[in-house]
Amino acid sequence: MKEQTIPYKIYLDEDEIPKQWYNLRADMKNKPAPLLDPETMQPMTADKLRTVFCEELVQQELDDTTPYFDIPAEIRDFYKMYRPSPLTRAYYLEKALGTPAKIYYKFEGGNTSGSHKLNSAIAQAYYAKKQGLRGVTTETGAGQWGTALSMACAYFDLDCRVYMVKVSYEQKPFRREVMRVYGASVTPSPSESTAVGRKILEKHPGTGGSLGCAISEAVEAATSMEGYRYVLGSVLTQVMLHQSIIGLETKAALDKYGIKPDIIIGCAGGGSNLGGLIAPFMGEKLRGEADYRFIAVEPASCPSLTRGRFVYDYCDTGMVCPLAKMYTLGSNFIPAGSHAGGLRYHGMSPVLSQLYHDGWMEARAVEQTSVFEAAQLFARTEGTLPAPESSHAIRAAVDEALKCKETGEEKTIVFGLTGTGYFDMYAYQRYNDGEMTDYLPNDEELSRGFDGLPIFDS
Ligand SMILES: *Cc1c(COP(=O)(O)O)cnc(C)c1O
Repeated sequence: MKEQTIPYKIYLDEDEIPKQWYNLRADMKNKPAPLLDPETMQPMTADKLRTVFCEELVQQELDDTTPYFDIPAEIRDFYKMYRPSPLTRAYYLEKALGTPAKIYYKFEGGNTSGSHKLNSAIAQAYYAKKQGLRGVTTETGAGQWGTALSMACAYFDLDCRVYMVKVSYEQKPFRREVMRVYGASVTPSPSESTAVGRKILEKHPGTGGSLGCAISEAVEAATSMEGYRYVLGSVLTQVMLHQSIIGLETKAALDKYGIKPDIIIGCAGGGSNLGGLIAPFMGEKLRGEADYRFIAVEPASCPSLTRGRFVYDYCDTGMVCPLAKMYTLGSNFIPAGSHAGGLRYHGMSPVLSQLYHDGWMEARAVEQTSVFEAAQLFARTEGTLPAPESSHAIRAAVDEALKCKETGEEKTIVFGLTGTGYFDMYAYQRYNDGEMTDYLPNDEELSRGFDGLPIFDS
């Protein structure tokens, strides 16, 4: 077929915003292992989960057979404020690389929170409101999730309490202020305000905190206050379900022009954007209808998929959340302070972990200076200042495009550009000043994380 001229940006119409989310688990023969109750080590019951999470979100979390969930009209209305998001052909990046590959990116940074996290934040806030709750608690690392949730809570008039990893709280004071503009209260974690926070501070005085430890604090706060529940911005399968909007829109846009991707790439922290982006394509692959290569890209300093173990582990440092079977570095693993921004989580979505384990997906770890090099090239060619997290995907897309240059193959590469990097200028500054270093945890450091894995027959 003669190639049509592909516009720089492929937009969908408003009425082409998907009306349902897609639940990838429905098409998996090997389902992800059930969440376990940390007290009994038995599969977590809906009743127990309801004490921590919102009612309807619990149902979504546990449902691994229903392929599609209707997106409520109230959520679709909110989506219209910033969706559909553009799918852009990276003509200028391709030209700079001199590659025959065709590169597309799905940009999720076109809202004030600056990332894809708003897609799930608005869904979670909606279900909390529908249940008649007063508010929600959560943790935030780099700050994007906290910002997204603050926006969503403001829209539905819910109280929002955010535990922010202390290093980020100190490095990104303006992130905190954005959350406060939207009415959230923000506490640096670990804090003295929870029992688990006090315990962690006693054990690790002066620690800059971690996501796992902020999660423990947020869960404790939610379960000790009337009318509150805890919400989470990644890792859980309900989050991936909401993020499937990214992949569904991407697929609709590509289908408009009859484009079939060969390689789909996403950065992987807890796995929600990657899982959402690849979901409908992976569904086709699982059903034997099409074939694609999927690449998860993670930081070499926090390499859960490429160097972690596929076992049951705690989702948080305080061991109050359910256990999940996933690729993990151990919930005690605290990434090096020199690591920039997000993607610091010790574990990975149980769905993606299972798919990776079964060979449906590839993973690679990249070092941060090479990530920022790719980020700079992208900013200079495509214009958008990418988030460091997203730049992991850019790195892999550039590397794949350079391989095509060697072999002369005209592959079509799609990657997720999850957000913008305006709040990451401290990291960019270190890169610009030549002060950024690469940090690879050695086996000894990793084994310290593995030593903290729960021991039981699973
Ligand atoms: C949170 C975040 C990520 C990583 O989270 P996932 O759950 O792995 O998607 C990636 N990019 C940006 C911009 C983020 O804010």
